[in-house]
Amino acid sequence: MRVRIPSVPYPNQLKTLTVRVRLAPSPTGTLHIGTARTALFNWLFAQKKGGSFLLRIENTDNERSKEEYIKNIYQGLQWLGINWNESPIIQSERVNEHKSIIKKLLDKGLAYRCYATESELEEMRENQRKSGLAPRYDNRNRDLSPEQESQYLKEGRYSVIRFKINDQKLITWNDLIRGKMNWSGKDLGGDMVIARRAPSNTIGDPLYNLVVVADDSAMKITHVIRGEDHIANTAKQILLYEALGLTPPLFAHTPLILNCEGKKLSKRDGVTSINDFKNMGYTPEAMANYMTLLGWSLPEGMNERFKISEVSKVFDFERINKAGAKFDWDKLNWLNSQVIHDMSPEILLEKLEPLFKEKGWEVPNHSWGKELTELIGPSMVLLNDGVEQAMPFFEVPVLQADGKKQLEIEGAKTSLIYIFKELEQIECSLFNKNQALDLINKTVKECEVKKGLVMKSLRAALLGTLNGPDLIKSWILLSRFSSDRSRISRFI
Ligand code: GLU
Repeated sequence: MRVRIPSVPYPNQLKTLTVRVRLAPSPTGTLHIGTARTALFNWLFAQKKGGSFLLRIENTDNERSKEEYIKNIYQGLQWLGINWNESPIIQSERVNEHKSIIKKLLDKGLAYRCYATESELEEMRENQRKSGLAPRYDNRNRDLSPEQESQYLKEGRYSVIRFKINDQKLITWNDLIRGKMNWSGKDLGGDMVIARRAPSNTIGDPLYNLVVVADDSAMKITHVIRGEDHIANTAKQILLYEALGLTPPLFAHTPLILNCEGKKLSKRDGVTSINDFKNMGYTPEAMANYMTLLGWSLPEGMNERFKISEVSKVFDFERINKAGAKFDWDKLNWLNSQVIHDMSPEILLEKLEPLFKEKGWEVPNHSWGKELTELIGPSMVLLNDGVEQAMPFFEVPVLQADGKKQLEIEGAKTSLIYIFKELEQIECSLFNKNQALDLINKTVKECEVKKGLVMKSLRAALLGTLNGPDLIKSWILLSRFSSDRSRISRFI
């Protein structure tokens, strides 16, 4: 018997859809963590669906866009392991396309020139404020008489181009994260400017909402996944899609990243750019892992520590929270420490060597370097901790207060003198753990002191303080270049 497969109640669009998503950063600053997280969600979704993740550089703001920021955005994404599938679209290169769409809207009577001057508009807003109304454009130039318009033209007035927004219109969409969304046309601030002020026989610079619709449509974007601060823009963009006879993509608005006070994470919180995190010593693995957890809840049974390639298999919109995601430094630090602790000494050395070089420190040979990273790795949270912890192995450390106090204790100096003399009999490059332990025991016996005193005094002399990594291992590392001897001799 043949089994009838019931038809799946999907909208047509979804049945045949090859997912195409995009990140559309404005290069007016370095890659922000919010943008990077949006990139990650887009990338994860594309991976899950076997689709494409694209980049569009929204550089239409000529004054604020900079080449160096474009580079920074590319580098930041690559650092996080987020790669794109096609060469990036540079928005400014499509300006003619944008203008021809504006012209189409003008020709159809769906857009018009507005000649109101800045001071007229300011006066309008002032009056609205006085009457306790929310500021909005009052559509004053929507239905100009031909005489009025030719008067403005005669005066040589410049004009912006506005897209007509019907106040009575109800705009709805099914947001993939937030569910059914409703917007009323009257809440969109009046007819929307789609081209900047320019001489009235030209079309000025096309503006954000128009340009995004033109580009998303040209790039065949199927899902627009972006921050919830764009919700009002989505309502406007849906109207533009309709006016242009285009099918809008599906929309998903992700929650914002909040600081510990519950406010949107901003420059005032200090660290916000991916570069800042990198410079502080966070690893790309931990950052990508942490950013995925910012707003997305793990399926049951899945470990909080993961590679983004693993998450892409289970990523879905249902698990993205609607509420803002609070930034949790403790969790990020924990993830980073886990990533570092799982690194082999070799890999850790690879990561730390450039940082050592910046300090002018040269790792004498690979196996020494590996032993060093093996020694300090377990107590590192940030890669930069490695610099701090490796310092006494490259530079003679200053004696700290605790070390100074230790060396003043009776028996400390005698022990160091004894150790120094004994070391003269030992070839430094061959010094090993057994010899070190024997020498400590011998010192205890010969100098009639406690083992703890010998160990602590030695630590103070070698590393400058009573805290730090394993003493014997540190001693052996320092002995390879006889720096243990010179450090001890300082105090005898
Ligand atoms: N250029 C916009 C921004 O950086 C992106 C808007 C969008 O994703 O549509 O916020």
